[in-house]
Amino acid sequence: MNEPESRTCPISARTVIFSPLRAARPMTLRHSQPHSRSEANRSHCPFCPGNEHETPADVFTTHDEHGWQLRVLPNKYPAVDLASDTALGIHELFIPCREHYTTPTQLSEPQLGRLLLAYADRIRACWDHPQLNSVNVFQNVGAEAGASLAHLHSQLIALPFIPAELAREYEQLKKAGVSHCPICEMAGHPSRMIARTANFVATCPYAPRFSHEIWLLPQEHRSRYETITLAEATELGQLVRRVLNALDCALDSPAYNWFLHTSPRADQPHYHWHFELIPRTSRLAGFEWGTGVFINSVFPERAAQELRDKLPP
Ligand SMILES: [Zn+2]
Ligand SMILES: [Zn+2]
Ligand SMILES: [Zn+2]
Repeated sequence: MNEPESRTCPISARTVIFSPLRAARPMTLRHSQPHSRSEANRSHCPFCPGNEHETPADVFTTHDEHGWQLRVLPNKYPAVDLASDTALGIHELFIPCREHYTTPTQLSEPQLGRLLLAYADRIRACWDHPQLNSVNVFQNVGAEAGASLAHLHSQLIALPFIPAELAREYEQLKKAGVSHCPICEMAGHPSRMIARTANFVATCPYAPRFSHEIWLLPQEHRSRYETITLAEATELGQLVRRVLNALDCALDSPAYNWFLHTSPRADQPHYHWHFELIPRTSRLAGFEWGTGVFINSVFPERAAQELRDKLPP
């Protein structure tokens, strides 16, 4: 598998050129800083317990006998606002732990399950606003992936319009039809599969932009993430935790983003919700910016094998 090969993703319609020989090229600049678990440079944190007065009031909270477990609150520095005429939307933050954790692999399975369930709760809450049509949930891990505050947090941005990346996926899946859904097909592909549970699968996509890119999806065809149950969120949390541990181990704790792609307000039954997880294994350069075509030096079949080998027992 040293021959270059180009592939077009059936879901995004994006073209990726696989060029394994490029992995051997000399590099004098370091690409990705590992994200850090160190608290050495910890400065004052508005998300730590005791500092709740520094943030807007919660819109959703869960508690145990020690205090809050998970908080969802409006972003104090929102990109969009429900009161705005020119940039309408909702921008919220999810804080999944009281502990000043900086990486999702530090979260317990119940913490991850709660976070995944809270995503669904807040998506449903966004649909109460008839002017909003898409909800985008994402997590940035590591400064290189855009995280600005160390204390782990996910974000939600709901918008009145459907962003172009999503619109293209809806279009592609509509063209394919539910009976030939390319995401259902992905779920059953053995050589790119990393791990599966009864209902979910973690897999490398056919044409990933970045090496070791991972998608997580329900094995059954489902368009709306917000229908996820507590039991399913718990099960998905277990899978996420295993796969993130394998990724940290395979790539020495890279910076990464994950984001959720789900149906917009107007249900698109041909759509199939999924999380995409993008490790910052390379930087976008002139060719990618200029063309929208990506060059990846690792075939997903090899990345999946490497990740399978690193799965915790
Ligand atoms: Zn903190
Ligand atoms: Zn499907
Ligand atoms: Zn997607």
